[in-house]
Amino acid sequence: MDNTADVIIIGGGIIGTAAGYYLARKGLKVFLFEKDYLTAGSTGRCIGGIRQQFSTELSIKVAMESVKKFKVMANELQQDVEFHPGGYLFLAHDENKKQVYLELIKLQQEMELDVRYVDVKEIERLVPGINTQGLLGGAHCPSDGQANPFLIVDAYARHIAHSGKVFTGTEVQSIGIKNERVDSISTSTGEKYYAPVVINAAGPFCGSIARLLNIDIPIYPERHEAIITEPIERFFDMMIVDYRDDGCYFNQKYHKGSIIGCYTPKPNVPGIDLGTSFEFAKEMGRRMARLIPKLEKVKIMRQWSGSYEMTPDGNPILDQTQIRGFWIVGGMCGHGFMLGPEIGWLAAEYILNGKPPYDINEFALNRSFAGKEVMK
Ligand SMILES: Cc1cc2nc3c(=O)[nH]c(=O)nc-3n(C[C@H](O)[C@H](O)[C@H](O)COP(=O)(O)OP(=O)(O)OC[C@H]3O[C@@H](n4cnc5c(N)ncnc54)[C@H](O)[C@@H]3O)c2cc1C
Repeated sequence: MDNTADVIIIGGGIIGTAAGYYLARKGLKVFLFEKDYLTAGSTGRCIGGIRQQFSTELSIKVAMESVKKFKVMANELQQDVEFHPGGYLFLAHDENKKQVYLELIKLQQEMELDVRYVDVKEIERLVPGINTQGLLGGAHCPSDGQANPFLIVDAYARHIAHSGKVFTGTEVQSIGIKNERVDSISTSTGEKYYAPVVINAAGPFCGSIARLLNIDIPIYPERHEAIITEPIERFFDMMIVDYRDDGCYFNQKYHKGSIIGCYTPKPNVPGIDLGTSFEFAKEMGRRMARLIPKLEKVKIMRQWSGSYEMTPDGNPILDQTQIRGFWIVGGMCGHGFMLGPEIGWLAAEYILNGKPPYDINEFALNRSFAGKEVMK
């Protein structure tokens, strides 16, 4: 068998497959390695939300470009990916949040995002039955939405396999270096594969992969739990984000009618931990029913957990390391699904042309990490 590719990718989630897809589209032969099955990491555990309401020009731009890619995906990949632009609604229950949204909306509108501040009356129209107690208004962007991560990863992987190969159940255990640049990887199946470029797209495992080459990168996994309910008749269209300390976020699956949602635990749960808690299921149910009382009787069907892949400033890392040909594309901080298509495209362009198509210094590996993404 031919063991040589143009690019080797470690990780079969949205980031690895998106980068592989765009590289393959440029005619490169890509080998992608996934230690388990495609989507086994965070991607298959996410809730499929897609938004563009971020707080810096770069993150807004990346998210907006990603949405453009989600829009044409069905055609481009010849695969329905269940993309539905149902919107995102960030609720303001205090004056401070309202002011933060109003400030951010100014910047987002300058970038031509179709976002605006909506009052309580309009929110009642958008989300029938919502509890408006203490509610001041919200930030609503109708072109945000949802899609199905399993269908997208599957379609990207199929395109990679046209000219390269996707190896599942194959763990990358070491990375070889020759003349100060990467040249190979060795796998759990005892094989060695060669390429002058290796992309670390291992999501929450990015840190362990980098450590194979004694490189320390600031990407730390954190456990996040999620639930999905039985399907019910569709009555709202958008992801509702309640940013109170004891808030939560959830939407209704456009194609199936189930409600899917999460909340960010306080304190957070560091490390790779795929355990679940009864406390979460109970509390998530309570928080959803507090916002929309008629959800009280809806049955939770499943719960699970996965990892956010956090960086200190809430922004991704997309950069080459000090070892030539070894790239990090990770640290998506819980936004990897929505940013994935554009991040994959950016990675492919950067690797091919030696420079990114636009300034992505905020994603550099050697940045200060002092800033903070506000819309976390
Ligand atoms: C509960 C929850 C809800 C979320 N909701 C959203 C959401 O609504 N919208 C959104 O945009 N994001 C969401 N996210 C975040 C999103 O899931 C991640 O940011 C994204 O999936 C990261 O993708 P990835 O490809 O970098 O990592 P992953 O999907 O984790 O892929 C990395 C892969 O690398 C593999 N791997 C690791 N080590 C090796 C090795 N040595 N050899 C071979 N393979 C290896 C892993 O098995 C894994 O499959 C959510 C996450 C969670 C946990």
